[in-house]
Amino acid sequence: MSDIEIIIERLEMRGHRVTASRRRVVDAIMSQPSHFTVDDVLRDSRQVGRATVFRTMKLLTDLNVVCRVLMDDGTLHYRVSARGHHHHLVCRDCGRVEDFATCDVTSLVNELAKNTQYEIEGHWLEIYGRCQSCRILKSERVPVG
Ligand SMILES: [Zn+2]
Ligand SMILES: [Zn+2]
Ligand SMILES: [Zn+2]
Repeated sequence: MSDIEIIIERLEMRGHRVTASRRRVVDAIMSQPSHFTVDDVLRDSRQVGRATVFRTMKLLTDLNVVCRVLMDDGTLHYRVSARGHHHHLVCRDCGRVEDFATCDVTSLVNELAKNTQYEIEGHWLEIYGRCQSCRILKSERVPVG
């Protein structure tokens, strides 16, 4: 199943009508590179109002077909992803984003809940660094001698 079919199916399964506007937003999302901003989607969702684009993005995030990535410069990006709970590895130099599903925070969350009496409902984790190609580029730029 293609990503677009997964998105449409999840919308319908959860009782959301796939209106023409929503369909246009989904099409705009599918035409983006691996990560994008709401402004990119706004620009490419022709004749769809700003509020509808924002609401649809929120809905797709809640349905776990789109995930959010906090870039190193503080901007919030989105990514098509139907993989469920996961985190991101973000390259500070080229902005490349990779998903990883290892989530080793259970003991931390349990301890926090115990110590603070909070009912913990979620967490957000991004890891920042430099990808292999950026590291190679950088080491090549270093003057020799
Ligand atoms: Zn993701
Ligand atoms: Zn990089
Ligand atoms: Zn996690």
